Amino acid sequence: MGLQLESPSRNGGDMSQTEHAKSGVGGEEPADAVALASEDGRIDDHGNPIDASSDIDFDCPHCGHQLVINVRGAGLTVVCTECGEPIQVPIPDGLEIADLDETPEQMFAQIVRLRSALSHADERIVDLEHAVASLMERRTTLERARLASLHRSVEMGNLLHTVLKNQNEITIVVQRIMALLAEEEK
Ligand SMILES: [Zn+2]
Repeated sequence: MGLQLESPSRNGGDMSQTEHAKSGVGGEEPADAVALASEDGRIDDHGNPIDASSDIDFDCPHCGHQLVINVRGAGLTVVCTECGEPIQVPIPDGLEIADLDETPEQMFAQIVRLRSALSHADERIVDLEHAVASLMERRTTLERARLASLHRSVEMGNLLHTVLKNQNEITIVVQRIMALLAEEEK
């Protein structure tokens, strides 16, 4: 994507180097955007001019790491470069949608990136669909096995019942024979 978090320390002290690093964020920042800074005189909380070339400085609410992102990242959810937690980029007071307007070239580059991401997402969807199909197949197999096992245990229960019933009848017959034998001995 075009927006990327940076740690301010990476930009170094040299001003031209800092501007160069800022231009590098997202890779499509036009060099003349810097020259247009603060044209209309609006400023943020820290007294810095707000426009499309501004960066947003903020601290990660999870780990406190100092972060910098291009103003176009305002309001987006990004991942902290330090702790990896998802964080929402603060929206500077006074920021207007017009500040975020991009040139046709930047929009085209964005569209190309989105198409590429979409194509990767399509591939991922196909992979996931295969995984789902394979899991459903596995579930069907397991359900069949469970049903067969259930049938077996019901059948074993029935057989056991038959055995017990027969055993009862045998006991009654044996008692009868014993009684007859006892009468014979009298
Ligand atoms: Zn963090």
